[in-house]
Amino acid sequence: MFKEEDLFLLFDYIDMKNSDTIAAIATAASESGISIIRVSGPDSLSIGDRIFKSIDNKRVSEYKTHTIHYGFIVEGENVVDEVILSIMKAPKSYTTEDTIEINCHGGLLITQKILGIVIANGARIAMPGEFTKRAFLNGRIDLTKAEAIMDIISADNDFALKTGIRQLRGDLYEAIRQIRADIIHEIAFIESALDDPEHISLDGYNDRLFLILSDILNRISKLSSSYDNGKIVKDGILTVIVGKPNAGKSSFLNILLGEDKAIVTDIAGTTRDALEENIKINNISLNIVDTAGIRFTSDEVEKIGVHKAKQYINQADLVLYMVDVSTEIDENDREIIKLLKDKKVIVLFNKCDLEAKVTKKEVIDELKQNGVISENVISHMISAKEQTGIDEFEDIIGKFVFDNDLSVNSELLITSLRQKEQLDVAFESINMVINSINDGMPEDFYTIDMMNAYSALGNIIGEEVNEDLVNEIFAKFCMGK
Ligand code: GDP
Repeated sequence: MFKEEDLFLLFDYIDMKNSDTIAAIATAASESGISIIRVSGPDSLSIGDRIFKSIDNKRVSEYKTHTIHYGFIVEGENVVDEVILSIMKAPKSYTTEDTIEINCHGGLLITQKILGIVIANGARIAMPGEFTKRAFLNGRIDLTKAEAIMDIISADNDFALKTGIRQLRGDLYEAIRQIRADIIHEIAFIESALDDPEHISLDGYNDRLFLILSDILNRISKLSSSYDNGKIVKDGILTVIVGKPNAGKSSFLNILLGEDKAIVTDIAGTTRDALEENIKINNISLNIVDTAGIRFTSDEVEKIGVHKAKQYINQADLVLYMVDVSTEIDENDREIIKLLKDKKVIVLFNKCDLEAKVTKKEVIDELKQNGVISENVISHMISAKEQTGIDEFEDIIGKFVFDNDLSVNSELLITSLRQKEQLDVAFESINMVINSINDGMPEDFYTIDMMNAYSALGNIIGEEVNEDLVNEIFAKFCMGK
């Protein structure tokens, strides 16, 4: 017998499945060789029957699945375009539904026109991400895979792409599924023992559970802390250039950018506000903030500038501290150094074409005294004027950022804040059980928290999510995906 709640769940499910036929342009909205119009849902084939005229006079619904056909899109008697049409019948398609894809000529007008004909014949325009949402709702992919598809589409470097593909292959799904299986196994054991104390004994179980949960905690924590690296891979390294006025920050940035975006003059403080630029160095994405306009002095009014720089530095994954070797270390430098505690810093000794008035040791000592640990500092000589030391700097970035704590090739990285938040909820819940064990609480206290962890992990793969969250996630996709 169905309970009332079950019926509501069933209604929700039917509603979420959206059983109508959707269509969208799956390629970019610009002139190109070809465009693809994708149609998915139960009427796809019959829409194809009405709008496609093949040269062999067969109907679309008569063709075998996974075949492609040459012919024409027609509107009544009129031929609209010469196209190639492919057919993927349910369940072997991206959405698991009957799908046709029309490759037409890549003009904006013609593509829109064909989409209009598809709509006039019974499909409706798809929402952004709706094809992938259907793949999820129809059970072909889990949420981590859906998010991976989005990461792959937006990847702008090889590392991001690799991470996305790994997630699409199901590595994250498998890690989460395994942890959940381990948790539910223990919940089931405790519940059965409490139900049937005569046959199942809990003697000595606490010690065993403690070890199992400690291991689970480790696995969760490793995944959660991979988010910092995952974010860097996906969004780029937030890099802040600091240095006193005239140290050569803008000149250096211009070399990296290969164009004169930052203004270079010899009047101190020319750049009025911070610039942010994205550049790729050895396949790593750097989002560089140039604080050239910010003055670092002990002057009361100009302390505002220091405050602003502090905000940028706080958020930074990496700081490029530019030292002008032709002038002595002064108050400006000391103000900057004070802000660098706990940061990863590359010290760029600039103007090495001029006579040096500052030594490497002096600067490194100052940094150490101000709480920058030596593993987090690398120093390098350059001349922005003569463009020397630039290639070596590019190599350093790769090694420093990746070798030090990024092992994208071997480690599983999570890239979504949503996933991290759920991992942290699971961590807290399991930690609470460990505390209960330590405090000698009875076993029936454990299962609620273990169940919370199980649900939070379920949210990551999409086994426990509600409709609002599903809509929110898929709305981030582009049209036609
Ligand atoms: P910022 O205020 O730190 O952004 O410094 P700028 O990039 O505007 O440079 C200030 C002045 O130093 C300009 O006149 C640059 O031409 C000069 N400069 C920058 N780098 C070098 C360098 O490596 N050697 C020499 N000799 N001058 C440089």
